[in-house]
Order: sequence, then structure tokens, then C-alpha cells
Amino acid sequence: LATAESRASATPMMEQYIEIKANNPGSLLFYRMGDFYELFFEDALEASRALGITLTKRGQHMGQDIPMCGVPVHAADDYLQKLISLGFRVAVCEQIEDPAEAKKRGGKSVVKRDVVRLVTPGTITEEKLLSPSESNYLMALTRIRASGEALLALAWIDISTGVFRLAETEASRLLADILRIDPRELILPDTMFHDPELKPVFDVLGRTAVPQPSVLFDSASAEGRIARYFGVSTLDGFGTFSRAELAAAAAAVAYVEKTQIAERPPLGKPERESAASTLFIDPATRANLELARTLSGDRNGSLLKAIDRTVTGGGARLLAERLMSPLTDPARINARLDSIGFLIDEPLLCGNLRDTLKHVPDMPRALSRLALDRGGPRDLSAIRQGLDAAGGVAAMLGKAMLPEELGQALSGLQALPAALEKLLAEMLADELPLLKRDGGFLRDGANAELDEVRALRDQSRRVIAGLQLQYAEETGIRSLKIKHNNVLGYFIEVTAGNASPMTETADAKARFIHRQTMANAMRFTTTELADLESRIANAADQALTIELEAFDRMTAAVVAEAEAIKAGARALAVVDVAAGLALLAEEQAYCRPQVDGSKMFAIEGGRHPVVEQALRRQAGGPFVANHCDLSPRTGDRDGAIWLLTGPNMGGKSTFLRQNALISILAQMGSFVPATSAHIGIVDRLFSRVGASDDLARGRSTFMVEMVETAAILNQASDRSLVILDEIGRGTATFDGLSIAWAAVEHLHEANRCRGLFATHFHELTVLSEKLGRLSNATMRVKEWDGDVIFLHEVGPGAADRSYGIQVARLAGLPASVVARARDVLTRLEDADRKNPASQLIDDLPLFQVAVRREETARGTSKVEEALKAMSLDDMTPREAMDALYDLKKKL
Ligand code: ADP
Repeated sequence: LATAESRASATPMMEQYIEIKANNPGSLLFYRMGDFYELFFEDALEASRALGITLTKRGQHMGQDIPMCGVPVHAADDYLQKLISLGFRVAVCEQIEDPAEAKKRGGKSVVKRDVVRLVTPGTITEEKLLSPSESNYLMALTRIRASGEALLALAWIDISTGVFRLAETEASRLLADILRIDPRELILPDTMFHDPELKPVFDVLGRTAVPQPSVLFDSASAEGRIARYFGVSTLDGFGTFSRAELAAAAAAVAYVEKTQIAERPPLGKPERESAASTLFIDPATRANLELARTLSGDRNGSLLKAIDRTVTGGGARLLAERLMSPLTDPARINARLDSIGFLIDEPLLCGNLRDTLKHVPDMPRALSRLALDRGGPRDLSAIRQGLDAAGGVAAMLGKAMLPEELGQALSGLQALPAALEKLLAEMLADELPLLKRDGGFLRDGANAELDEVRALRDQSRRVIAGLQLQYAEETGIRSLKIKHNNVLGYFIEVTAGNASPMTETADAKARFIHRQTMANAMRFTTTELADLESRIANAADQALTIELEAFDRMTAAVVAEAEAIKAGARALAVVDVAAGLALLAEEQAYCRPQVDGSKMFAIEGGRHPVVEQALRRQAGGPFVANHCDLSPRTGDRDGAIWLLTGPNMGGKSTFLRQNALISILAQMGSFVPATSAHIGIVDRLFSRVGASDDLARGRSTFMVEMVETAAILNQASDRSLVILDEIGRGTATFDGLSIAWAAVEHLHEANRCRGLFATHFHELTVLSEKLGRLSNATMRVKEWDGDVIFLHEVGPGAADRSYGIQVARLAGLPASVVARARDVLTRLEDADRKNPASQLIDDLPLFQVAVRREETARGTSKVEEALKAMSLDDMTPREAMDALYDLKKKL
């Protein structure tokens, strides 16, 4: 399209279009023409298909029809939403001068246009495009090489709320960190995007990952770019950041600049997140535990959905953020728990707070739109209402002795600008138009000049009504009407048959100036009417000018308080989350967990938060509560592992998951579904439950299971919690049993973590004889009349049988198959009795982990030797540097 020949043969408008299009590759171009955004050529074909709108054509280009389709400007948000959700990016091109200017230039001059904004999934601000309960992060990823090492860093920004954070990460946890934050768009240098080592990460992210030119990630200019954005000379006041973090942050900022073009969304100062402060949850665990979404991608059925009782968008977003990044610091967790405990003890206050919070609109998002010059009267009113509600919440909280977290929230609310609320309340009308250009949003009495103009306009309208009467009398035409339309303005209309009194005499002709003849009506005007018309039009223009000026003043007043408003909104979210979790705890009978730095894991009467609620909704049986105790036994430093056996459908997976979920809930600072819970901080949570289907990526179920198990055995520490369900199921019995056996031993001897290990290999239960911190537990069943009844009760000991055949019968397998299976089973069991696998425990020496430790010892001593041999005082800096590199090689 952008060839010289193509340009030369284009009309001036098409020439402009082609040039702008060429400057914005990879985006659909919304080209403003009057009240429409038009799309041409390939864009038109794609958009008409994606949006289901009619494809037309407009003129020709190089002998071919130009395909075209358009969306009306007033409905553009709806179409943008659809396109963005389908993964498109859109460049919005506006007319940037008054068409009258272009006309003045004469000839073939076209109105100047330019792209004012790129709309991408990570940089949207419109209410319609955003989900109120979800953050909308743009994330930048960079890699910096320093003395042979690659440092990775992430920075993420939500321009709809101004949140700006950054963190360092490592290749091994990169995907986990990205999924924890769940960005809508991830930008990264194209060199990284094509790095085969990182390919698996970007495969998972799909279209979310967008390569960008490497210059955007230049680390040399990073600090300067961020400082310029914030209008400061150095970043010293923001804290200390690594070079990689700065490069990522600068890239995110650069991308915001690139997409927002002339506008600068108000961002909070970059805040650093350290990996150690959050509970690490690896991607498979996150998916399997269905924290924010179920495995099929649904929000219903997730843990988040089950615990969310918040009533504001900000609260819902904060709750999701806490759930996705539980803490590891007992003090911070307990501060959150204190808030919930306090509100449970003050149910009246809690209820009143929630009632008031229900009226809190999304202040941060309204603020961002206003700051980006995309706001409307309703955004101003959102700020006013938010400030008003915040005042109410502060008044309620102010009367109580608050725990720390709520006390801080109260300070945030008290710092909100009361004067701003007063200003907005005085200025804004009760009923507001959507768009500022529609006018009518200023309250009567807010502006004396405006009141005058409005009075003039209303008066003129009354005069017109009087004129109608007067003309009807004068002409004797009783049906004479004065009407208005956009083309003629005000005019007199009479039916064609009645018109003669206005056309017959010369006098009448001079007085009633003919404008239009319709099929059965005639239209006239008079000098008086034209005069009034222009006075009304002028008044309307004047009124709008006054209103728009006032709008700008109010917007400026709001933006000037951006920091306080954001902090206040955050405080409201904190209160909303605490009140929501307090309500949840009351409603669902949750208890306050005891969280500390120990290695305890003692849960009494634990329940599965999602299954429990589902059972209640479906009026199924009650959920059977179960204990779980993985705390270190007397004399032990490390926690215990339970080996859980029991029939299929017995409730093993549910039990495993509920304990993982309880630890997450506790560490995010929520009460938990149990009668009591004591949890020593978990640093990493791993779970392998159920076979997540990865077949589309060409891995067999068994391969996936082994990859995930490998990650766990390699990474779990003595502070981790590991949940393993049916390891080794996807292969031949002996393979599977052997792998499961070795995995249990490794967890016990090498990882030394707390763990739950569910298995259908009963042979494993003998391991408890040799492994001191391993004990057996089983799901109880009752046999009755040849059937099994699942009690869903966990008790000590091992299951003696699998009841697989009974379950198969329940599932409706033909009776003949069930009978035959019973025969086969009896034979197999006879054979096993003669040479049982459980004998292995006597024959096999215990698993050796010592090898690894020896290796480490040798490596260290080599380094130590080299260090001892060095004479530091005799070295030049250069030699010292070389020596350092040598040392590193020895590791
Ligand atoms: P398994 O993993 O042993 O095959 P599941 O955990 O999948 O069994 O549970 C099977 C069914 O039993 C589920 O549908 C679940 O709703 C129900 N169930 C599990 N645990 C309980 C419980 N503690 N109380 C009530 N119902 C339960």
C-alpha cells in the first residue's frame, strides 16, 4: 500500500490515510471522518468480519475498489471492546484541526489528521472496556547481562488506576511471576521473544506477549526516561532499583508514552516487590487450584468467586491481588487478620460500612480518564460521590478504636480533600449527560454568567411560543406551528392547503419568507424568528463554552488531588476487603488462623471453601470436615508428610486441595474454613492434582505429570507445602509405583517439606515404617450389601482395598464386566500375596540423598582454597576482577 506508485495515484485524502497507516503497523486504523471512524482496505475486511458490520466501498485506488467499513463515533467504545477482546490493536486517528481551516487553505487540502492514541489490551481506560473487578496490567519484561549473568526484571503498570510496580525475577520462576500478576499485555525485546530457551513461557502466554524493538528497553537511558515522566531530576526519592528493574520500568513507561501519545496518565511512584515477601505458587499449582479461574477458564467455581463479598470494584481488585500474592510475613498477615476480627466483633459497623461502600464508584479509573482528557461529567460525579462516601466511611471508623490496618485506612480517608467535594457538589447537576459536549451538567446557580445565558435562552423560547399564537391570529391559520430542526433551525409550518394567506399579498410575502415546500406542507421564516433563532443558538454556544471551561477547571482541581484521591480509594478498598472477608467468615463459619514463623500445619475441622458452598447451593449432603496435622512431631525440626490412600471418589483430591487452599487463605490474611488452624508460614506451595490437559502442546498426560513433579522435587524447601495427587498413575503399574516410591522418599529425606501425598498404590504405605515423619491416612468407607458408601472422613491408617470394582459398578458398567473383573482381581491378588511388593521395604536400602551434599562440599572447598591462596594487597583491580571470574568458574 505504501509504495511510491500507490501514493502518487491516490487522492489527497487517501494519500494522507496511506501515510498514517504506514506509520502505525500492526494496528487497525480508525480514521475519523465526521461522525464516523472509517476503516479501509485490509483493515476494513478484517474489522467487518470481526465486528459483523457491513462492508462497503469508497472510490478506487490503482484501479481497484477501496473496501471500507465504519463505526459511529458515539458507539466506538463497544466496537473497540470487541476488537480488543479479539486481540486486535487499534490506532485512533482524529481530525486535529477545524475542517474550516482546511477549507481556507483551499484547493485539495484535506483536514489534518493524526493518530492520537493506540488502543492496546494493556493500555485501556474506558469503563466499557475494563472489567471492574480486575486489574488491567501492562507488563514489561527485560533481561540484562552483567558479567556473564542474565538478570531478569518485570515492571507492571495499570494506567486505569496508576498502580506501578516492579520486581526482579529468575528464569525458573518467570512464568509463575507473570501469571501471578496476570497482565493483559506483556511487552519484551524482540530478541528475547525469539530466544528458544524462553519459548515455552511465551507459548503459554500466547497473544498476550508482544515483542517490541529493543531500543525501548535500553538500560542506559532508563533512569532519565522515568525521571522525566515524573518530572523529577533523579529517582533517589523513589528508592533503590537494580539496573534491570529500571530498564523494565522505563520500557513500560516508554510504551505508555508510545500508546497515549500526547497524554500522560498519572502513575504512582514505582514500588518494588521482593520475591521473598510473597508465597511462591508455581503456574501448574495456580491453575490446578483454580484460584481466580477454573481449569476451563471460568470465574465461577474459582476460589476468588467463592470468597468475594466485596461491594466495590477497587475492593474486588484488591482481594484478587491479595489472593494471587499471599504474604510470607506473619506480622503483615496478622495485621490483616486483626481488621477482620475487629469487624466481626462490630457487626453493626461492618454492615453500615458495606452499605456506604456500595455507593463508592471507581474513583481511580474516573481519575485516570479525567487526567487523560477522556473524562466526562459522570467521571467528575464519580469523584464527588466517592469523596462523599469516603467521608461517611471515615465518620463511622473515626468513632472506634481501630486495629493498625484500618487505622491507616482512616488516615488515608481523612486526608481526602473536602474542599474538592464541596466544589463538585456545588457545580454538578443531579442528572448528568454522558458527554461533556452535550452540556447541561452544571447546576443552576453554579455560575452566574451561565444562569444569565440560560435565562435568555428560556426567555427566547417563551417568546417563540408567543409568536406562534401571534402569527396564527394574524394569518387566521389556526393550525400554524413553529417547529425546529437541525437544517432550518426554527421555522413556521402550515399545511399546503392553508398557505394562501401567507403567499397571496406582496405584504405577506415580504413578511413570511418562504423556505421550503414539502409534499403537503410549506415552511416559512420571518426576520423576528431568524433573529430569535440566532440569539438562541448563540446562547447555546455561549452556555456550552462556559460549561466546558468549568469542566476543565473542575478536572484540573481533581487532577491536582490525584495522589490523595488514589490513596483514599486504596483505603476504601482496604475497608471493603476487610468487611467482605468479615462477612464471609461470619456467614461461612470460618475461624481466625494462627499464623507464625513455625513449621506447624494443624487444621481442625477443615473444609473445602468452594465445594462446601457448592454442596450447600445444590442442597447436597453436608460437607464432612476433616483434620490435618503436618506439624513437626516432638523432637523433630521438620514437618510431616501424610500418605493418603482410599478409593476413587472417596474425597482424596478434595482433602488435598482444601489444605492447600486453607494455607493460601491464611497467608493472604483471611479467616479459613476450619474450626481451628495453626499454620507456620509456607514459603512455596506446590501441588500436582489432577491431570491438567496439556495434550494440545504435544505432551502426554504422563509427561506433564513428570515435568510438574520434577519441578516440585527440585524446588521445594523445608518450609514448603507440597500436595501430590496420584503420582505415577499415567504409566505401567510397576513404573508408576517405583516413581511414586522414590518421590515420597525424596520429599521426606531431601526436601523435608510438609506434604500430602495421595496414592492408589497401597504398597507405599509400608514406607511409614522406615520414614519417621511419614504417616498413613485413609478415606473411610462403609461397605453395605456389596456397595460402598463414601464417608469422606479422613482417619489414620491405610486403606485395605481400592473398591475400584464397586465404583465401576456404581458408574453403570455392565454386570457381566463387573463379575468378570472380580474374577480377574481375585487371581491377581493371589499372585501378589505370594510375592508382595511391600516386601521391598525389607530388601531396599533407604534412599540416598547424601551424594548431592558431598558434591556441594567439594565445590566449596575448591573455591575456599583458591581464596586462601590469593594475596589481595598485591593485586591490581583488573587482576582482582579476573580472579573473581575464575572463582565463579569453580562453582
Ligand atoms: P477422589 O479424589 O478420592 O477420587 P474427590 O475428592 O474427587 O475423590 O471427591 C469425590 C466426590 O466426593 C466429590 O464430588 C466431592 O463433592 C465429594 N466429597 C469429597 N470430599 C467431601 C467431603 N469432605 N464432604 C462431602 N463431600 C465430599
